[in-house]
Amino acid sequence: MRLIVQKFGGTSVADQERRNMVVNKIEFAKKKDYYPVVVVSAIGRNGDPYATDTLINLAKSVGIEPNPREMDLLMSCGEVISCVVLANTLKKMGYECKVLTGGQAGIITDENYGDAEVLKVEPSNILDCIEKNIIPIIAGFQGITEEGNITTLGRGGSDVTASIIGEAINAEIIEIYTDVDGVMTADPAIVPDAKVMDTVFYNEIFQMAEYGAKVIHPRAVEIAMRSNIPLLIKSTLTENTGTLITNYDKSRRYRYDKNDQLITAIAQIGNRTQFRIRFDGSADQYEKDTLLFNIIAAENISIDMINIYSDLKVFIVDSVNGPKLENILKSQGYSFTAIPNCTKVTIIGNKMRGMPGVMAKMIEGLSESNIDILQTSDSHTTISCLIKSENTSAAVNALHRKFELGKTK
Ligand code: ADP
Ligand code: ASP
Ligand code: MG
Repeated sequence: MRLIVQKFGGTSVADQERRNMVVNKIEFAKKKDYYPVVVVSAIGRNGDPYATDTLINLAKSVGIEPNPREMDLLMSCGEVISCVVLANTLKKMGYECKVLTGGQAGIITDENYGDAEVLKVEPSNILDCIEKNIIPIIAGFQGITEEGNITTLGRGGSDVTASIIGEAINAEIIEIYTDVDGVMTADPAIVPDAKVMDTVFYNEIFQMAEYGAKVIHPRAVEIAMRSNIPLLIKSTLTENTGTLITNYDKSRRYRYDKNDQLITAIAQIGNRTQFRIRFDGSADQYEKDTLLFNIIAAENISIDMINIYSDLKVFIVDSVNGPKLENILKSQGYSFTAIPNCTKVTIIGNKMRGMPGVMAKMIEGLSESNIDILQTSDSHTTISCLIKSENTSAAVNALHRKFELGKTK
């Protein structure tokens, strides 16, 4: 049997008109002889009654820090509500379907509330539905621990549900339906000229997602990649073909084609704080270095864009951890500067590997728009610049033009 996982994001199920469009997509898959296994996100966006952000704000409105276990319990309700509403829509159209929570779908996780890791999937309930010709409608973004506690998989985690279920039932393809026409050369909310790409390789979209393109969760890409299941990202609202994500074709790596773009896409991640920690050159500097990074690790604060010089350590953190780190550094007597409201802008492309001049072009693009670069970092296939967040739109658009990624060149 040809199994397909179809995941619908929050905006795709936001109102009855859209839920009817979702039914069309499910019907279309059935017409193509696929057996659909459906995964859904919570309805709508922040402010809508059952959206994840609305539920988080509700919990926080009491004025005490919510307990992580209970927070996950609350957040998981958004997806359950969405499943039931979609299931009723399908039933009204004459389809037999069954709602499964993440736990009932067999997704077993660790106890890391808010960002739990899937340990295994026991898909017997899903397979049972399929055997009885019932469409399973699965609540995304959630799982259950061995002890029976409900967990969530991190923001954007319904994509992870889609991939992990796809892997467990050996789906032929995983479709991710969202509010844009596919993976684009930049976030269309920032770059009006961004272009949909027909195909992208797993490693490229993985990097895009890691560097902030929230069109798909990076873990969902990793899972699909390891089980070699194609991902198709497309819009619920249009008939466009979307973006197919598959394996990297090795032969392309060595072929130089002047039409090939060096850069595939641009991504950005905001809400970063840059820390610049100075040392006074004292005799115990080595111990202070070691102590500094041990403290940061012990506090479970993840650091990025790390540059270490003998008298200066520079790195960035997610701004939610900024005040906490500032307090720690003050209490330990470090001399430092913290610059909040920063954004990391990254250019991504398999083909920039070993190509000279890409960094120069990036710096040129930003300086032509008078954008200060606070810091840079790079890998074989990415270059990132840290800038002030107020310059994000100008920077991403400038780079998009500079590397000629748009619809109009
Ligand atoms: P869903 O609720 O369907 O999961 P998300 O909001 O998580 O939707 O992801 C879709 C959004 O991702 C789009 O609305 C778009 O603004 C954003 N996005 C960021 N970068 C990209 C990109 N490179 N291509 C397409 N969309 C992107
Ligand atoms: N509803 C969850 C979130 O907003 C999961 C998802 O949409 O993928 O993060
Ligand atoms: Mg999403």
